[in-house]
Amino acid sequence: MDFIAYACSDCSHLFTQKKYLCPNCRNDHFYEKEVVGKGRIYTYTTIHISSPDYQHLAPFNVVLVELENGLKLTGRMKEEVTINDTVELKAKENGAYIFQKAFT
Ligand SMILES: [Zn+2]
Repeated sequence: MDFIAYACSDCSHLFTQKKYLCPNCRNDHFYEKEVVGKGRIYTYTTIHISSPDYQHLAPFNVVLVELENGLKLTGRMKEEVTINDTVELKAKENGAYIFQKAFT
């Protein structure tokens, strides 16, 4: 699944969230850009005891995924993972990115 990132209109630097200023060139104009939600596990942690709102999901992994374009995106996964596993964006639920293992 692809998702919407933000790109600086001057230097094309990509962000996962809107910024006030581009840290690369200090421009304040951005445009939305659809990017491929596929990458590899950069790091992760397994949550066994969560806040009450998410306890029904535990245990789950909070993953930091380095996408193919270099962006890093934090998300959640139910499946077991390890560093460097290839994953893809499956859904966006209540503002959270949900990843799943990708088979290439
Ligand atoms: Zn810029």
